[in-house]
Amino acid sequence: MEHQCSYDCLIIGAGFAGAVAARELAQRGNQRVLVLEQRSHIGGNAYDCYNDDGVLIHQYGPHIFHTNNQRVYDYLSQFTHWYPYEHKVVGAIHGQYLPIPFNFHSLHMAFPEEQAQQLEQLLTDTYGHGRKVTILELRKSRHPALKALADYVYQNVFAYYTQKQWGTAPEDMDPSVTARVPVLLSQDDRYFQDIYQGMPAEGYTKLFEAMLDHPHITVRTKTDARDHLTIQEQTILLDGVPFSGPVIYTGAVDALFDHVFGRLPYRTLDFSFETYPQTEYQTHGTVNYTVSEAYTRITEFKHLTGQKLEGKTTIAKEYSRAYTGAEGEIPYYAILNPDNLSLYAKYRALAQKIPNLHLLGRLAEYRYYNMDAIVAQALSLSDDLLKEQENKAL
Ligand code: FAD
Ligand code: UDP
Repeated sequence: MEHQCSYDCLIIGAGFAGAVAARELAQRGNQRVLVLEQRSHIGGNAYDCYNDDGVLIHQYGPHIFHTNNQRVYDYLSQFTHWYPYEHKVVGAIHGQYLPIPFNFHSLHMAFPEEQAQQLEQLLTDTYGHGRKVTILELRKSRHPALKALADYVYQNVFAYYTQKQWGTAPEDMDPSVTARVPVLLSQDDRYFQDIYQGMPAEGYTKLFEAMLDHPHITVRTKTDARDHLTIQEQTILLDGVPFSGPVIYTGAVDALFDHVFGRLPYRTLDFSFETYPQTEYQTHGTVNYTVSEAYTRITEFKHLTGQKLEGKTTIAKEYSRAYTGAEGEIPYYAILNPDNLSLYAKYRALAQKIPNLHLLGRLAEYRYYNMDAIVAQALSLSDDLLKEQENKAL
Protein backbone atom coordinates (compact mmCIF):
# COMPACT_ATOMS: atom_id res chain seq x y z
CA MET A 1 0.00 0.00 0.00
CA GLU A 2 1.04 3.57 -0.69
CA HIS A 3 2.93 5.14 2.20
CA GLN A 4 0.61 6.14 5.03
CA CYS A 5 1.97 9.73 5.17
CA SER A 6 -0.05 10.45 2.03
CA TYR A 7 -3.18 10.50 4.22
CA ASP A 8 -4.46 12.59 7.11
CA CYS A 9 -7.23 10.22 8.21
CA LEU A 10 -7.97 6.57 7.92
CA ILE A 11 -11.49 5.15 7.75
CA ILE A 12 -12.30 1.47 7.98
CA GLY A 13 -15.54 0.55 6.22
CA ALA A 14 -17.40 2.19 3.32
CA GLY A 15 -20.95 1.90 4.67
CA PHE A 16 -22.97 4.94 5.75
CA ALA A 17 -20.77 5.57 8.79
CA GLY A 18 -17.48 5.50 6.88
CA ALA A 19 -18.69 7.20 3.70
CA VAL A 20 -20.32 10.18 5.45
CA ALA A 21 -17.30 10.72 7.69
CA ALA A 22 -14.94 10.45 4.70
CA ARG A 23 -16.87 13.03 2.72
CA GLU A 24 -17.12 15.45 5.64
CA LEU A 25 -13.44 15.26 6.55
CA ALA A 26 -12.36 15.57 2.92
CA GLN A 27 -14.73 18.37 1.99
CA ARG A 28 -15.03 20.50 5.09
CA GLY A 29 -11.66 19.63 6.62
CA ASN A 30 -9.66 19.46 3.42
CA GLN A 31 -8.16 16.22 4.76
CA ARG A 32 -6.73 13.46 2.61
CA VAL A 33 -8.79 10.42 3.52
CA LEU A 34 -8.03 6.76 2.94
CA VAL A 35 -11.04 4.38 3.15
CA LEU A 36 -10.37 0.67 3.48
CA GLU A 37 -13.25 -1.69 2.70
CA GLN A 38 -12.97 -5.46 2.92
CA ARG A 39 -15.82 -6.17 0.50
CA SER A 40 -15.50 -5.78 -3.26
CA HIS A 41 -17.87 -2.81 -3.21
CA ILE A 42 -18.85 0.33 -1.30
CA GLY A 43 -22.18 0.92 0.51
CA GLY A 44 -21.91 -1.53 3.40
CA ASN A 45 -25.18 -3.29 4.05
CA ALA A 46 -27.09 -0.68 2.07
CA TYR A 47 -25.36 -1.81 -1.17
CA ASP A 48 -27.69 -2.52 -4.09
CA CYS A 49 -27.06 -3.86 -7.59
CA TYR A 50 -28.81 -5.27 -10.63
CA ASN A 51 -28.97 -9.07 -10.59
CA ASP A 52 -28.58 -11.27 -13.68
CA ASP A 53 -32.28 -10.83 -14.39
CA GLY A 54 -31.96 -7.05 -14.49
CA VAL A 55 -33.79 -6.47 -11.20
CA LEU A 56 -32.38 -3.93 -8.73
CA ILE A 57 -31.90 -5.84 -5.47
CA HIS A 58 -30.53 -5.11 -2.01
CA GLN A 59 -27.91 -7.77 -1.50
CA TYR A 60 -27.84 -7.46 2.29
CA GLY A 61 -31.56 -7.11 2.92
CA PRO A 62 -34.25 -4.55 2.17
CA HIS A 63 -33.31 -0.96 3.06
CA ILE A 64 -35.91 1.81 3.19
CA PHE A 65 -34.77 5.29 4.07
CA HIS A 66 -36.81 7.21 6.65
CA THR A 67 -35.96 10.03 9.02
CA ASN A 68 -37.26 12.95 11.05
CA ASN A 69 -33.81 14.49 11.05
CA GLN A 70 -33.72 17.49 8.71
CA ARG A 71 -29.93 17.70 8.69
CA VAL A 72 -29.60 14.05 7.66
CA TYR A 73 -32.20 14.38 4.93
CA ASP A 74 -30.62 17.57 3.54
CA TYR A 75 -27.17 16.06 3.75
CA LEU A 76 -28.01 12.94 1.75
CA SER A 77 -30.10 14.97 -0.71
CA GLN A 78 -26.84 16.51 -1.98
CA PHE A 79 -25.96 13.10 -3.42
CA THR A 80 -29.31 11.76 -4.61
CA HIS A 81 -32.84 12.56 -5.66
CA TRP A 82 -35.53 10.52 -3.99
CA TYR A 83 -38.12 8.11 -5.27
CA PRO A 84 -41.11 8.81 -2.99
CA TYR A 85 -41.79 5.44 -1.40
CA GLU A 86 -43.65 4.78 1.84
CA HIS A 87 -43.15 1.23 3.06
CA LYS A 88 -46.23 -0.85 3.84
CA VAL A 89 -46.04 -4.28 5.40
CA VAL A 90 -48.66 -6.93 5.98
CA GLY A 91 -48.48 -9.99 8.20
CA ALA A 92 -49.60 -13.33 6.76
CA ILE A 93 -51.77 -14.47 9.65
CA HIS A 94 -53.90 -17.59 9.27
CA GLY A 95 -54.99 -16.81 5.72
CA GLN A 96 -55.40 -13.05 6.21
CA TYR A 97 -52.99 -10.24 5.39
CA LEU A 98 -53.15 -7.77 8.28
CA PRO A 99 -51.38 -4.39 8.17
CA ILE A 100 -48.26 -4.22 10.37
CA PRO A 101 -47.72 -2.35 12.66
CA PHE A 102 -51.01 -3.70 13.98
CA ASN A 103 -53.39 -0.71 13.70
CA PHE A 104 -57.10 0.06 13.54
CA HIS A 105 -57.37 -1.45 10.05
CA SER A 106 -55.78 -4.65 11.33
CA LEU A 107 -58.16 -4.58 14.29
CA HIS A 108 -61.23 -4.40 12.03
CA MET A 109 -59.92 -7.22 9.85
CA ALA A 110 -59.07 -9.47 12.79
CA PHE A 111 -62.24 -9.10 14.87
CA PRO A 112 -65.99 -8.99 14.23
CA GLU A 113 -67.11 -5.40 13.53
CA GLU A 114 -68.89 -4.71 16.80
CA GLN A 115 -66.01 -6.04 18.90
CA ALA A 116 -63.48 -4.12 16.79
CA GLN A 117 -65.41 -0.88 17.32
CA GLN A 118 -65.50 -1.42 21.07
CA LEU A 119 -61.78 -2.20 21.16
CA GLU A 120 -60.97 0.85 19.06
CA GLN A 121 -62.90 3.06 21.49
CA LEU A 122 -61.30 1.42 24.49
CA LEU A 123 -57.79 1.80 23.08
CA THR A 124 -58.41 5.45 22.22
CA ASP A 125 -59.88 6.21 25.65
CA THR A 126 -57.05 4.43 27.44
CA TYR A 127 -54.00 5.58 25.49
CA GLY A 128 -55.14 8.39 23.18
CA HIS A 129 -55.73 8.47 19.41
CA GLY A 130 -52.58 8.23 17.33
CA ARG A 131 -50.47 6.86 20.17
CA LYS A 132 -47.92 4.13 19.62
CA VAL A 133 -48.21 1.49 22.31
CA THR A 134 -45.56 -1.18 22.53
CA ILE A 135 -46.73 -4.77 22.78
CA LEU A 136 -45.00 -5.09 26.15
CA GLU A 137 -46.91 -2.04 27.42
CA LEU A 138 -50.23 -3.31 26.05
CA ARG A 139 -49.68 -6.66 27.75
CA LYS A 140 -49.53 -4.89 31.09
CA SER A 141 -53.14 -3.71 30.72
CA ARG A 142 -55.46 -5.00 33.43
CA HIS A 143 -58.59 -4.44 31.40
CA PRO A 144 -59.79 -7.92 30.34
CA ALA A 145 -60.67 -6.87 26.78
CA LEU A 146 -57.33 -5.08 26.27
CA LYS A 147 -55.49 -7.97 27.82
CA ALA A 148 -57.19 -10.37 25.39
CA LEU A 149 -56.28 -8.06 22.50
CA ALA A 150 -52.69 -7.88 23.71
CA ASP A 151 -52.55 -11.67 23.83
CA TYR A 152 -53.91 -11.86 20.29
CA VAL A 153 -51.33 -9.39 18.93
CA TYR A 154 -48.55 -10.97 20.96
CA GLN A 155 -49.34 -14.45 19.65
CA ASN A 156 -50.08 -13.50 16.06
CA VAL A 157 -47.58 -10.74 15.38
CA PHE A 158 -44.68 -10.95 17.82
CA ALA A 159 -44.09 -14.33 19.44
CA TYR A 160 -43.10 -16.54 16.51
CA TYR A 161 -41.50 -13.80 14.40
CA THR A 162 -39.32 -12.73 17.33
CA GLN A 163 -38.44 -16.34 18.09
CA LYS A 164 -37.29 -16.81 14.48
CA GLN A 165 -35.43 -13.50 14.34
CA TRP A 166 -33.72 -13.60 17.74
CA GLY A 167 -34.13 -17.14 19.10
CA THR A 168 -35.86 -15.59 22.14
CA ALA A 169 -39.32 -14.58 23.38
CA PRO A 170 -40.20 -10.85 23.09
CA GLU A 171 -40.29 -10.35 26.86
CA ASP A 172 -36.73 -11.67 27.20
CA MET A 173 -35.32 -9.07 24.83
CA ASP A 174 -34.30 -5.48 25.19
CA PRO A 175 -37.68 -3.67 25.03
CA SER A 176 -36.33 -1.20 22.46
CA VAL A 177 -36.30 -3.95 19.82
CA THR A 178 -40.02 -4.81 19.75
CA ALA A 179 -40.81 -1.14 20.44
CA ARG A 180 -39.63 -0.49 16.87
CA VAL A 181 -42.94 -1.98 15.70
CA PRO A 182 -45.60 -0.79 18.16
CA VAL A 183 -49.37 -1.14 18.07
CA LEU A 184 -50.52 1.99 16.28
CA LEU A 185 -53.76 3.59 17.42
CA SER A 186 -54.73 5.06 14.06
CA GLN A 187 -55.64 4.10 10.50
CA ASP A 188 -52.07 4.80 9.31
CA ASP A 189 -50.93 1.69 7.41
CA ARG A 190 -47.35 2.84 6.88
CA TYR A 191 -44.48 0.92 8.50
CA PHE A 192 -42.72 4.19 9.36
CA GLN A 193 -44.24 7.50 10.38
CA ASP A 194 -41.20 9.71 9.72
CA ILE A 195 -41.52 13.04 7.91
CA TYR A 196 -39.05 12.03 5.20
CA GLN A 197 -39.33 8.64 3.56
CA GLY A 198 -38.04 7.41 0.25
CA MET A 199 -35.50 5.52 -1.77
CA PRO A 200 -32.46 6.95 -3.54
CA ALA A 201 -33.83 7.43 -7.05
CA GLU A 202 -30.88 5.67 -8.72
CA GLY A 203 -30.23 3.28 -5.86
CA TYR A 204 -28.00 3.33 -2.78
CA THR A 205 -24.79 2.39 -4.56
CA LYS A 206 -25.07 5.44 -6.82
CA LEU A 207 -25.60 7.60 -3.72
CA PHE A 208 -22.40 6.18 -2.22
CA GLU A 209 -20.49 6.69 -5.48
CA ALA A 210 -21.50 10.36 -5.44
CA MET A 211 -20.62 10.74 -1.75
CA LEU A 212 -17.17 9.19 -2.13
CA ASP A 213 -16.41 10.99 -5.38
CA HIS A 214 -14.05 13.63 -4.02
CA PRO A 215 -10.44 14.35 -5.00
CA HIS A 216 -9.28 13.92 -1.40
CA ILE A 217 -10.88 10.51 -0.90
CA THR A 218 -9.17 7.27 -1.87
CA VAL A 219 -11.18 4.07 -1.50
CA ARG A 220 -9.52 0.67 -1.49
CA THR A 221 -12.01 -2.20 -1.72
CA LYS A 222 -11.11 -5.86 -1.12
CA THR A 223 -8.83 -4.63 1.64
CA ASP A 224 -9.26 -5.99 5.15
CA ALA A 225 -7.91 -3.32 7.47
CA ARG A 226 -6.74 -5.98 9.90
CA ASP A 227 -4.08 -6.99 7.34
CA HIS A 228 -2.62 -3.47 7.53
CA LEU A 229 -3.23 -2.25 11.06
CA THR A 230 -1.37 -3.15 14.23
CA ILE A 231 -2.28 -1.84 17.63
CA GLN A 232 0.70 -1.36 19.93
CA GLU A 233 -0.44 -0.12 23.30
CA GLN A 234 -1.78 3.36 22.53
CA THR A 235 -0.52 3.59 18.98
CA ILE A 236 -1.99 2.45 15.67
CA LEU A 237 0.48 1.36 13.03
CA LEU A 238 -0.50 1.37 9.37
CA ASP A 239 1.69 -1.07 7.50
CA GLY A 240 4.18 -0.90 10.36
CA VAL A 241 4.37 2.92 10.53
CA PRO A 242 2.70 4.90 13.37
CA PHE A 243 -0.41 6.72 12.13
CA SER A 244 -1.25 9.77 14.20
CA GLY A 245 -4.29 11.13 12.33
CA PRO A 246 -7.87 10.19 13.18
CA VAL A 247 -8.71 6.52 12.61
CA ILE A 248 -12.44 5.86 12.28
CA TYR A 249 -13.29 2.19 12.62
CA THR A 250 -16.79 1.04 11.55
CA GLY A 251 -16.35 -2.76 11.70
CA ALA A 252 -17.03 -5.16 14.57
CA VAL A 253 -15.02 -4.02 17.57
CA ASP A 254 -14.28 -7.53 18.89
CA ALA A 255 -12.64 -8.38 15.54
CA LEU A 256 -10.38 -5.31 15.81
CA PHE A 257 -8.99 -6.63 19.08
CA ASP A 258 -8.70 -10.26 17.96
CA HIS A 259 -11.62 -11.26 20.21
CA VAL A 260 -9.38 -11.02 23.29
CA PHE A 261 -12.37 -11.01 25.64
CA GLY A 262 -14.33 -13.52 23.55
CA ARG A 263 -16.79 -13.00 20.72
CA LEU A 264 -19.58 -10.44 20.86
CA PRO A 265 -22.82 -12.23 19.96
CA TYR A 266 -24.70 -11.23 16.80
CA ARG A 267 -27.49 -12.57 14.63
CA THR A 268 -26.71 -13.24 11.01
CA LEU A 269 -29.09 -13.67 8.08
CA ASP A 270 -29.30 -15.97 5.09
CA PHE A 271 -31.09 -14.51 2.09
CA SER A 272 -32.78 -16.64 -0.52
CA PHE A 273 -33.18 -14.57 -3.69
CA GLU A 274 -35.75 -15.93 -6.15
CA THR A 275 -36.75 -14.52 -9.52
CA TYR A 276 -40.17 -15.26 -10.99
CA PRO A 277 -41.43 -14.85 -14.56
CA GLN A 278 -44.24 -12.51 -13.51
CA THR A 279 -44.53 -8.76 -13.08
CA GLU A 280 -45.62 -8.87 -9.44
CA TYR A 281 -45.17 -11.54 -6.76
CA GLN A 282 -47.02 -10.01 -3.79
CA THR A 283 -49.22 -6.98 -3.11
CA HIS A 284 -46.85 -5.27 -0.65
CA GLY A 285 -43.15 -4.46 -0.45
CA THR A 286 -42.79 -6.82 2.48
CA VAL A 287 -44.92 -9.63 3.85
CA ASN A 288 -44.01 -10.70 7.39
CA TYR A 289 -44.59 -14.37 8.24
CA THR A 290 -45.58 -14.01 11.84
CA VAL A 291 -47.23 -17.38 12.54
CA SER A 292 -45.77 -19.74 9.93
CA GLU A 293 -42.73 -20.52 7.75
CA ALA A 294 -39.08 -20.71 8.71
CA TYR A 295 -38.25 -17.37 7.11
CA THR A 296 -39.26 -14.13 8.80
CA ARG A 297 -40.29 -12.07 5.79
CA ILE A 298 -40.43 -11.85 2.02
CA THR A 299 -39.53 -8.60 0.30
CA GLU A 300 -40.24 -7.88 -3.35
CA PHE A 301 -37.71 -5.27 -4.42
CA LYS A 302 -39.61 -3.69 -7.30
CA HIS A 303 -42.19 -2.31 -4.84
CA LEU A 304 -39.42 -0.53 -2.95
CA THR A 305 -37.37 0.74 -5.84
CA GLY A 306 -40.22 1.58 -8.20
CA GLN A 307 -38.40 -0.25 -10.99
CA LYS A 308 -40.68 -0.89 -13.96
CA LEU A 309 -40.01 -4.27 -15.50
CA GLU A 310 -42.60 -6.47 -17.20
CA GLY A 311 -42.69 -10.23 -16.69
CA LYS A 312 -39.91 -10.49 -14.09
CA THR A 313 -39.58 -9.87 -10.40
CA THR A 314 -37.14 -10.79 -7.63
CA ILE A 315 -37.95 -11.50 -4.01
CA ALA A 316 -35.80 -12.25 -0.95
CA LYS A 317 -36.72 -14.57 1.88
CA GLU A 318 -34.87 -13.85 5.14
CA TYR A 319 -33.71 -16.54 7.53
CA SER A 320 -32.12 -15.52 10.82
CA ARG A 321 -29.67 -17.53 12.92
CA ALA A 322 -26.84 -17.14 15.42
CA TYR A 323 -23.64 -15.66 14.00
CA THR A 324 -20.73 -18.03 14.50
CA GLY A 325 -17.86 -16.06 12.97
CA ALA A 326 -17.43 -18.60 10.16
CA GLU A 327 -15.81 -17.38 6.93
CA GLY A 328 -18.25 -15.34 4.85
CA GLU A 329 -20.86 -14.90 7.60
CA ILE A 330 -21.94 -11.31 8.27
CA PRO A 331 -22.75 -9.98 11.76
CA TYR A 332 -25.99 -8.11 11.02
CA TYR A 333 -27.65 -7.49 14.37
CA ALA A 334 -26.12 -6.83 17.79
CA ILE A 335 -28.01 -8.75 20.47
CA LEU A 336 -28.76 -6.22 23.18
CA ASN A 337 -28.74 -7.74 26.67
CA PRO A 338 -26.86 -6.88 29.87
CA ASP A 339 -24.16 -9.57 29.41
CA ASN A 340 -23.40 -8.56 25.84
CA LEU A 341 -23.41 -4.87 26.65
CA SER A 342 -20.93 -5.37 29.47
CA LEU A 343 -18.69 -7.42 27.16
CA TYR A 344 -18.95 -4.60 24.63
CA ALA A 345 -18.01 -2.07 27.33
CA LYS A 346 -14.74 -3.95 27.85
CA TYR A 347 -13.87 -3.63 24.17
CA ARG A 348 -14.90 0.02 24.17
CA ALA A 349 -12.61 0.67 27.13
CA LEU A 350 -9.71 -0.88 25.18
CA ALA A 351 -10.50 1.34 22.21
CA GLN A 352 -10.67 4.44 24.39
CA LYS A 353 -7.05 3.95 25.43
CA ILE A 354 -6.05 4.82 21.88
CA PRO A 355 -6.52 8.58 21.58
CA ASN A 356 -6.89 8.78 17.79
CA LEU A 357 -9.23 5.76 17.42
CA HIS A 358 -12.96 6.45 16.99
CA LEU A 359 -15.60 3.73 16.95
CA LEU A 360 -18.49 4.63 14.69
CA GLY A 361 -21.45 2.71 13.26
CA ARG A 362 -23.80 -0.13 13.90
CA LEU A 363 -21.09 -2.74 14.43
CA ALA A 364 -18.42 -0.65 16.11
CA GLU A 365 -20.93 0.84 18.56
CA TYR A 366 -22.82 -2.46 18.99
CA ARG A 367 -26.17 -0.69 18.50
CA TYR A 368 -29.38 -1.24 16.56
CA TYR A 369 -29.10 1.88 14.41
CA ASN A 370 -31.15 2.75 11.36
CA MET A 371 -29.36 4.41 8.46
CA ASP A 372 -30.43 7.91 9.42
CA ALA A 373 -29.09 7.50 12.96
CA ILE A 374 -25.73 6.41 11.56
CA VAL A 375 -25.59 9.38 9.23
CA ALA A 376 -26.37 11.66 12.18
CA GLN A 377 -23.63 10.02 14.27
CA ALA A 378 -21.11 10.32 11.44
CA LEU A 379 -21.95 14.01 10.97
CA SER A 380 -21.58 14.62 14.68
CA LEU A 381 -18.22 12.83 14.95
CA SER A 382 -17.01 14.76 11.89
CA ASP A 383 -18.10 18.04 13.54
CA ASP A 384 -16.03 17.13 16.62
CA LEU A 385 -12.96 16.13 14.62
CA LEU A 386 -13.13 19.26 12.49
CA LYS A 387 -13.43 21.42 15.60
CA GLU A 388 -10.34 19.70 17.05
CA GLN A 389 -8.51 20.34 13.80
CA GLU A 390 -9.48 24.05 13.90
CA ASN A 391 -8.35 24.37 17.50
CA LYS A 392 -4.98 22.82 16.65
CA ALA A 393 -4.52 25.24 13.79
CA LEU A 394 -5.07 28.28 16.06
P1 FAD B 1 -22.27 -1.25 7.56
O1 FAD B 1 -23.24 -0.89 6.50
O2 FAD B 1 -22.29 -2.65 8.08
O3 FAD B 1 -20.80 -0.92 7.01
C1 FAD B 1 -19.64 -1.34 7.67
C2 FAD B 1 -18.61 -1.64 6.59
O4 FAD B 1 -17.35 -1.89 7.22
C3 FAD B 1 -18.95 -2.87 5.77
O5 FAD B 1 -18.97 -2.56 4.41
C4 FAD B 1 -17.84 -3.84 6.13
O6 FAD B 1 -17.49 -4.70 5.06
C5 FAD B 1 -16.71 -2.91 6.49
N1 FAD B 1 -15.70 -3.53 7.36
C6 FAD B 1 -15.91 -4.17 8.53
N2 FAD B 1 -14.73 -4.62 9.02
C7 FAD B 1 -13.77 -4.26 8.14
C8 FAD B 1 -12.37 -4.44 8.09
N3 FAD B 1 -11.73 -5.12 9.04
N4 FAD B 1 -11.70 -3.94 7.05
C9 FAD B 1 -12.33 -3.27 6.06
N5 FAD B 1 -13.67 -3.07 6.05
C10 FAD B 1 -14.37 -3.56 7.09
N6 FAD B 1 -31.83 0.90 8.22
C11 FAD B 1 -32.79 1.75 7.78
O7 FAD B 1 -32.71 2.96 8.05
N7 FAD B 1 -33.84 1.30 7.03
C12 FAD B 1 -33.98 -0.01 6.68
O8 FAD B 1 -34.95 -0.39 6.00
C13 FAD B 1 -32.99 -0.93 7.13
N8 FAD B 1 -33.09 -2.23 6.82
C14 FAD B 1 -32.13 -3.09 7.26
C15 FAD B 1 -32.27 -4.43 6.92
C16 FAD B 1 -31.32 -5.35 7.36
C17 FAD B 1 -31.49 -6.80 7.00
C18 FAD B 1 -30.24 -4.91 8.15
C19 FAD B 1 -29.22 -5.89 8.65
C20 FAD B 1 -30.09 -3.58 8.47
C21 FAD B 1 -31.04 -2.66 8.03
N9 FAD B 1 -30.92 -1.30 8.32
C22 FAD B 1 -31.90 -0.42 7.90
C23 FAD B 1 -29.77 -0.75 9.09
C24 FAD B 1 -28.62 -0.32 8.17
O9 FAD B 1 -28.15 -1.44 7.46
C25 FAD B 1 -27.52 0.26 9.03
O10 FAD B 1 -27.99 1.35 9.79
C26 FAD B 1 -26.33 0.76 8.20
O11 FAD B 1 -25.97 -0.12 7.19
C27 FAD B 1 -25.17 0.96 9.14
O12 FAD B 1 -24.08 1.52 8.45
P2 FAD B 1 -22.61 1.25 9.00
O13 FAD B 1 -21.71 2.01 8.13
O14 FAD B 1 -22.58 1.45 10.47
O15 FAD B 1 -22.40 -0.33 8.83
N1 UDP C 1 -41.42 -7.81 15.08
C1 UDP C 1 -42.29 -8.87 15.19
N2 UDP C 1 -43.22 -9.06 14.21
C2 UDP C 1 -43.30 -8.28 13.12
C3 UDP C 1 -42.41 -7.20 13.00
C4 UDP C 1 -41.46 -7.00 13.98
O1 UDP C 1 -42.22 -9.63 16.15
O2 UDP C 1 -44.16 -8.51 12.26
C5 UDP C 1 -40.43 -7.61 16.15
C6 UDP C 1 -39.23 -8.54 15.99
O3 UDP C 1 -38.70 -8.84 17.25
C7 UDP C 1 -38.28 -7.66 15.18
C8 UDP C 1 -38.50 -6.30 15.85
O4 UDP C 1 -39.93 -6.28 16.12
O5 UDP C 1 -36.97 -8.10 15.28
C9 UDP C 1 -38.10 -5.10 15.04
O6 UDP C 1 -38.68 -5.19 13.77
P1 UDP C 1 -38.10 -4.38 12.51
O7 UDP C 1 -39.02 -4.59 11.37
O8 UDP C 1 -37.80 -3.01 12.94
O9 UDP C 1 -36.75 -5.18 12.26
P2 UDP C 1 -35.61 -4.97 11.14
O10 UDP C 1 -36.28 -4.40 9.92
O11 UDP C 1 -34.61 -4.07 11.75
O12 UDP C 1 -35.11 -6.35 10.94
